[in-house]
Amino acid sequence: MCGDHDPNHHDFSEVLALKERRLSAADRQRFEGYLAEIFGALGLDLGTPATRETPARHLQALLDVTSGYEGDPKMIKAFETECRGGSDCRLSQVIEGPITFFALCEHHALPFYGHAYVGYIPHEQILGISKLTRLVRTFAKRFAVQERIGKQLADAMSSVMQPHGVAIYLEAHHLCVEMRGVREMSPVTRTTNWRGFYENDPALRAEFFTSCGIHSMVR
Ligand SMILES: [Zn+2]
Repeated sequence: MCGDHDPNHHDFSEVLALKERRLSAADRQRFEGYLAEIFGALGLDLGTPATRETPARHLQALLDVTSGYEGDPKMIKAFETECRGGSDCRLSQVIEGPITFFALCEHHALPFYGHAYVGYIPHEQILGISKLTRLVRTFAKRFAVQERIGKQLADAMSSVMQPHGVAIYLEAHHLCVEMRGVREMSPVTRTTNWRGFYENDPALRAEFFTSCGIHSMVR
């Protein structure tokens, strides 16, 4: 019974809208001018061969690291129902991680980066493992907060697959904290999001963390 498509299930086009961003040449030139003014005022000598193009490179880097706003066309095309409720499709957790991600905090526009661990208990649908990585990166490559990435992942997986449960664990270093010397240590911020069976089953959550090799979160 594999391969059927249930129209009641959503697909990624509903949770990951594709949105192309275009900067006109005039926009680019103006934005590079702003950046040159800011970098210059901060102390950067923009007159050297190494730094002359820094405003342009910085603008392009910002576009690259926020490309998640454009969605992921491969994500949408590649998603299909792969299994329909056979006994082998149920109950055992599917877990992927660590998935490296990089994001910009929306409060300081500085990077935070770390690892995501994503798990779910399939019901009638499963996802290709590479799709979980794509999903994490699509939500991370934006101006974000860590908690929201976790919630968006849990919501998207719940909506698209309607699994028995979803588990999301994110651990990240936030450069807005570390670079500015707010704390001396290198703290790791950890967030979790649970849906379905995971919400009321500590043993299942423990199994998730153990499978991920994260023993510090097993109580
Ligand atoms: Zn911040």
